[in-house]
Amino acid sequence: MNPLSASTGPAPQARTARPSFSAVTAIVIAIAVALVPFVFPLTPYVLNIFMQAATYAIAVLGMTVVLGYTGQINLAQATFFGLGAYAVGLGTVVLGLNFWLTLLLGIGLATVAGFVLGLTTLRLGGHYLAMITISFQQIFDLVMVNWASVTQGPDGVAGIQRPSIFGFLFADDRVYLVLCLVFLYAAVAFVWWLPQTRIGRAMRAVRENELAAEVTGVDTLRVKVTAFTMSAALAGVGGAFYAAGFAYISPDNFNFARSIEFLTMTLLGGVDSAFGGVFGTGLLIVLPEWLRFLKDIYLAVYGLAVILIMVFLPAGIWGIVRGRFDRFRKTPHVDVDRIAPLELDVSIANPAPILRFENVAKHFGGVKAVDGISIEVARGTVHTLIGPNGSGKTTTLNVLNGIYKATSGRIVFDDVDITAMSPHQRAGLGIGRTFQNIRLFASMSVVENVMVGAQRANNPVGTSRAALFERAMSALKFVGMAEQMHMTVKNLPYGHQRLVEIARALAGHPSFLLLDEPAAGLNLTEKKSLGELLKRLKGHGMTIFLIEHDISLIEQVSDTITVLNFGKKIAQGEPGYVMRHPDVVAAYLGESAHAAA
Ligand code: ADP
Ligand code: MG
Repeated sequence: MNPLSASTGPAPQARTARPSFSAVTAIVIAIAVALVPFVFPLTPYVLNIFMQAATYAIAVLGMTVVLGYTGQINLAQATFFGLGAYAVGLGTVVLGLNFWLTLLLGIGLATVAGFVLGLTTLRLGGHYLAMITISFQQIFDLVMVNWASVTQGPDGVAGIQRPSIFGFLFADDRVYLVLCLVFLYAAVAFVWWLPQTRIGRAMRAVRENELAAEVTGVDTLRVKVTAFTMSAALAGVGGAFYAAGFAYISPDNFNFARSIEFLTMTLLGGVDSAFGGVFGTGLLIVLPEWLRFLKDIYLAVYGLAVILIMVFLPAGIWGIVRGRFDRFRKTPHVDVDRIAPLELDVSIANPAPILRFENVAKHFGGVKAVDGISIEVARGTVHTLIGPNGSGKTTTLNVLNGIYKATSGRIVFDDVDITAMSPHQRAGLGIGRTFQNIRLFASMSVVENVMVGAQRANNPVGTSRAALFERAMSALKFVGMAEQMHMTVKNLPYGHQRLVEIARALAGHPSFLLLDEPAAGLNLTEKKSLGELLKRLKGHGMTIFLIEHDISLIEQVSDTITVLNFGKKIAQGEPGYVMRHPDVVAAYLGESAHAAA
């Protein structure tokens, strides 16, 4: 924060986006739950249900990470659960290994399998990913049933022992339940804390808008693989305790139906919250017990209940609880004067152009969207790209920051050949971007959106939460959006969303800013302040590559204009020269105007 600030108000603090659920309350509830079996006389049957719920919930928390936070479908969670369980089952019964060793083994196996499954997201998403995960689950099922010499086939593994620690055996169901709960609580704490971390923010950014996340500097493949790996590891833990708890496992405990059950539990409780996952698991395990009195029709009623809950509670059960909390949440006042000004100065000492586009082409089948363009952008200038609709402007930008790979040609940024780099690598070199159709992380807060920009690789402020938060606040102050820091982006008016998108790019310490029609959809006042903003950026030495239609804005800020038509460069130069160029007039107004000119 700026120490010279005259204001004495409190500086904005990095605040979590969650209700301030007091840690003390949480711990008291957690201990109370663990004590229930010791206070009330529960039958072994009920204790078993508790044990099942606790171990399932750990696997469901994995689903919260992969599906809830990262938005990746996973219909193979029972496979990872099963790997944990079989490692303990076969490890302790057949190989005579220590439980704790087999627990680690199970987590390791599940983690490796999760990593492999995560890698398939490199090429596949959505429905295809769903298919892949189902196949993965089916393969596991077939192997477990048919590779009987190793897995003991459909007979399963019996006689699995409870673990012991320092000679103390967890034989009593109540004590074993406490052990399961300890691991469950640790998993809840981890999954609850995760969204506020760099990787957690990156996960949510991937869920909200994968393309924008990648362009903002998030290594989206790594994030997705990490999510699958974490999810699988959690399932492995759950499976290991399940096996030791019930003493017997067989392949049908870990089949596709179980994966669907895990998915339902996740959705029912609230897909993007740790507490939701636990709620959903508890409910779905208890619900059939409650409904048993219905005898023959109980499964139908159970199914109907699940459908009704999902239809009418899209945010899950925890969504309602959280809504209640939110009502009591006060939004702290933001003292803008206390926010440090944005550190932006970009060196323009190097006389070499910051960007060289050498004969770049991008073809889509027969469409030559970009047809052999060479452009040089000088440091510290505003270089504007204009041209009729469909002339290849956006495609040029997409090739420039790696969303599309160039069909041919070479792109050199700051003396580095970036032609083959991925978008997040280019962001890591200091290329920032906004989109023609705004691409923000809609259900995240304003400041979180901008923090994702701040945390790109090689950023000069480092990785601490406080530094990233400060950087984000400075960028928001620069565009005049600091007061809205806590708002959810999707609730902002259009003009404000444009500014948040620019702030997100600025937070990432760009030396080169790509803006695709930033004035589109803005009213006159907003356009005017956008013009001021661009001039301020230019004053700091920022190089801006601008696509724009608004003539007055173009004339205000541009140093150089390049004109495209049908994917080719038809003119380039100072605004006064280019705007009167006969080919440009012709391209915009047609041949008759050309003749008249
Ligand atoms: P501009 O931004 O100048 O309006 P674009 O770069 O969006 O133009 O589009 C240039 C041409 O490339 C258009 O003919 C468009 O239809 C085509 N095009 C753009 N993106 C794709 C794509 N992903 N697949 C096929 N054709 C595309
Ligand atoms: Mg366009």
